[in-house]
Amino acid sequence: MQEIPHNLERVRARIAAAASDAGRPADAVRLVAVSKTRGPEAIATAHAAGQTDFGENYLQEALTKIEALSGNDGLVWHFIGPIQSNKTRAIAENFDWVHSVDRLKIARRLSAQRPEGLAPLQLCLQVNVDDQASKSGVSPDAAAELAAAVAELPNLRLRGLMAIPAPADDPADQQRPFAALRRLLASIDAGGCALDTLSMGMTGDLEAAIAEGATLVRVGTAIFGLRP
Ligand SMILES: *Cc1c(COP(=O)(O)O)cnc(C)c1O
Repeated sequence: MQEIPHNLERVRARIAAAASDAGRPADAVRLVAVSKTRGPEAIATAHAAGQTDFGENYLQEALTKIEALSGNDGLVWHFIGPIQSNKTRAIAENFDWVHSVDRLKIARRLSAQRPEGLAPLQLCLQVNVDDQASKSGVSPDAAAELAAAVAELPNLRLRGLMAIPAPADDPADQQRPFAALRRLLASIDAGGCALDTLSMGMTGDLEAAIAEGATLVRVGTAIFGLRP
């Protein structure tokens, strides 16, 4: 737990260095701390060290923590895990961002179930950018059509694309799928909806993602340590 502030500083320094190498300002990259499997104390510790954005994969676990931390002003919650249709209501009611939408049915439900009085739900489409059979995500070929349909829905704001490429050690292999996601985003015309978000890069490959234009990285292990 005591390492969290120090780890956060190191991750911020990695982001700043990678952005600088890419000729981009450090504040062009938003850090989401992935807190799955961590307790509310770990999140509160990171928040006290200036971290505001947190990513969660498992709904039930996340709801417990959101409730426990409801007194902490300024927390921003990102849902980044697979979404079943029976989970959309609780996601629409409790999260600020959703990164893992890969079909229209889910987007429609999130839109219909977003409570009145809350800001629009910020949304990324998850793309299966390197065609991994086991991973969720819309296929790159179908992404533009899905984006156009999602952009029409009320109570949501389509922000961009998210991907989780297969892990790779070599930086060139890491960069290839991120470059593909960047080109895909640039090719999508979502009816005048400004797409400004590339959610890509984790502990092992955030430098490669930032080199290819990531505007948001999702980092767990480098902040909170190895998951149990
Ligand atoms: C767990 C997870 C992360 C964080 O991975 P680390 O390697 O621990 O940084 C990022 N994105 C998603 C979608 C995840 O499930």
